[in-house]
Amino acid sequence: MARGAKRIVSAGIARFLHATGWLARSRTPDRLTILTFHRVLPEERRQGYPLPGLVVTPEELSWILGRLSPHYTCGPLEQSFDRWCAPVPGATPPLAITFDDCTADGHQYARPVLAAHDIRASFFAPAGLIEAGDALWHDRLGFAVSLLAACGDAGFDRWLEVNRLSPDPGAALAHRVVVAAKSETPARRDAWIRELETLAQGRGVPEWARLMTWQELRELSGEGHEIGSHSMSHELLPQLAREALRDEVEGSRILIADRIGRPIDSFCYPNGDESDGVADAVRRAGYRVGVTTRGGINERATDPLRLHRFDMQFDYVTDGFGAPSDALLLFRVSGHHPAASAG
Ligand SMILES: [Zn+2]
Repeated sequence: MARGAKRIVSAGIARFLHATGWLARSRTPDRLTILTFHRVLPEERRQGYPLPGLVVTPEELSWILGRLSPHYTCGPLEQSFDRWCAPVPGATPPLAITFDDCTADGHQYARPVLAAHDIRASFFAPAGLIEAGDALWHDRLGFAVSLLAACGDAGFDRWLEVNRLSPDPGAALAHRVVVAAKSETPARRDAWIRELETLAQGRGVPEWARLMTWQELRELSGEGHEIGSHSMSHELLPQLAREALRDEVEGSRILIADRIGRPIDSFCYPNGDESDGVADAVRRAGYRVGVTTRGGINERATDPLRLHRFDMQFDYVTDGFGAPSDALLLFRVSGHHPAASAG
């Protein structure tokens, strides 16, 4: 079935489940719902960002929060987790709002939207990159690729050929290179970034796409938002040796606590990549809660250090005609939507 037709059917089912009260009955306090956001950028910026699937606009974020808050107690992960462990009688079920990566747009655009809805959230910081004022590796790669593709660089065409990547143009090219880089070793990924940044002659991640500063994170923390760890360098943790893994997990917890002045209890696995060894390192470092990118609802049996989340792209909650649908949003985060609970 075509994507548009699938969406029309899905929105129809959602409306039925919503209207009959079935979705409402599935929202119980013994289930913990967690949403994942990355960047929050105005539409014209989204167009200029190489990985647009990671972006919602401030208006889209506001729409989502406005539609969820009558049905859930929205809050940071740590607080939502506590409400899940010890439900408050008569309260709506807990729903955690999380932002990965701590990009500056979280401070500039997400923060006022959250304030307008009186909702606090969790922000996961790649501590070493923030300390050094560096950019995320997927942003460095993504911006270099989109720059080189846009100017039809001959060296870039050769680079794609050498690395057996299809040169099909378009926004998806940056996404495909980033996905391919994830299956390479950290050393090879670094080499790719260096090679492409050299070809791009130093024109890399623009100022607007930077990460937050510690000062910006302290402001969020002071307003009641939770700051969690997203490792030191956003490396894919299962690829690392024991010492390096410890530094990423434990080192980031110590560094963020020092810079923010509060204990850090939540960990977010970069790229969602975890393993038994990684989860064990997170447990030993003293974190109480860990979140993956695996889609789905959390039930009593779910490991608190490997919680599931629903990735939020606005496209997911629009019906086949492009209009946002309350019913589809509530279906999507109910844990019963087959596509939202995959992976
Ligand atoms: Zn991330």
